[in-house]
Amino acid sequence: MAATGGTNLPRVGGYNQAVVLDAIRVRGPVSRVELAELTGLTNQTVSNVVRRLLDAGLVSESGHAPSSGGKRRTLLSPRADGAYAVGIHLDRDAGQVVLVDLAGSTVAGRRFAVSAPGEPSAVVEQAARTARRLVGRTEVDPARLLGAGIAAPGPIDGTAGEVVSPPNLSGWGRVPLLSMFGTALDMPVALDNDATAAAIGERWIGGQKRAGSFLFIYFGAGIGGGIVLNDTVLHGDSGNAGEFGHMAVEPGDRLCSCGSNRCVGPYCSPRALIEEVFHRHGEAAAERIGLSGAAEALTEDWKRLRRAARRGDPAADEVARRAARLLGQAARGAVALLDVSRVVLGGEGMRGLETIMCEEIDAAVNGNSIARALDSVSVETSVIGDTAGAVGAAALILHGHYAPGLRLLTTESTPA
Ligand SMILES: [Zn+2]
Repeated sequence: MAATGGTNLPRVGGYNQAVVLDAIRVRGPVSRVELAELTGLTNQTVSNVVRRLLDAGLVSESGHAPSSGGKRRTLLSPRADGAYAVGIHLDRDAGQVVLVDLAGSTVAGRRFAVSAPGEPSAVVEQAARTARRLVGRTEVDPARLLGAGIAAPGPIDGTAGEVVSPPNLSGWGRVPLLSMFGTALDMPVALDNDATAAAIGERWIGGQKRAGSFLFIYFGAGIGGGIVLNDTVLHGDSGNAGEFGHMAVEPGDRLCSCGSNRCVGPYCSPRALIEEVFHRHGEAAAERIGLSGAAEALTEDWKRLRRAARRGDPAADEVARRAARLLGQAARGAVALLDVSRVVLGGEGMRGLETIMCEEIDAAVNGNSIARALDSVSVETSVIGDTAGAVGAAALILHGHYAPGLRLLTTESTPA
């Protein structure tokens, strides 16, 4: 990576060092002897790597393990203040900026309403300004700020660092977000689609709970997916692996941007669920829930619908369950294909719908005994919550630097 100023922190080069730091993050506090067992590296290599991590301020010695005869073992923990990254999540009409430390905690965060959603350069400027202010208000040592990760609705062109006419950002064509943010922020940046970023964040923050393989279903302005297989995030040839919204389900009368009426995405969008309340349950139900149905009231309507579903309103519950069952159909196919033992649900759109989504998706993926002769698939909500996109964006930088296997998979820019 070409650092572009703003960070003097020694990049922890080398696969072994990434492996050791990841093991300390996930399993710490942990001794050098245990690290050797966990990583398969020799005691001497672990000792050398740990020395470099201590010198770089990325880990600290944090007490001793109980003595079992012989020499007491010094325990190592990650240093939360060892490194930081900014995460920026762009969505249809709102954005979110967070500052995340090496331990995965959100140090500061801010949501903003996008003032000119159809103008990419204005959106980038507004997000960059929000990020600069957010960082400026904290005590974070600028030398420890590694960069900014950007999570945007897909599809993206991972090689060019561009989003490509994303259906959820109307009026956007090909937009070189990576270089635009690189210039606006003057620091290293990384870009990924929001669902994949969220999956990386989930792996980064979740530690042991998210070790192994899982399918992440992301519900923001639309439905997306991220896939972690054997601790590695899948990107695919074009950088768009996990385009879950195009998974085929029972056909209906909603057309996808790709032209099909069989894609799950259009049946599980905020707009679709709001319309279904009107179509299936009538004006009275819509009025009871407080839905306006107007295009400009989408965000407010969507909040009200999810709130109504949570308190058990029958119309809201019914449309949410219908959508959840379709997601379940799609998830069932994906789970069978990928052999993941977990389905993780996240993104702001899941808020309020967690119970309904978990129940219906669980029934779909575990309902067939042949599929699950070995073990049942666990359906869980995100450990991050509804900031999964933004925290995941920060993880693109932190995880990209300091975790094994992922560094090459994020896109980083050198602003001209
Ligand atoms: Zn489609």
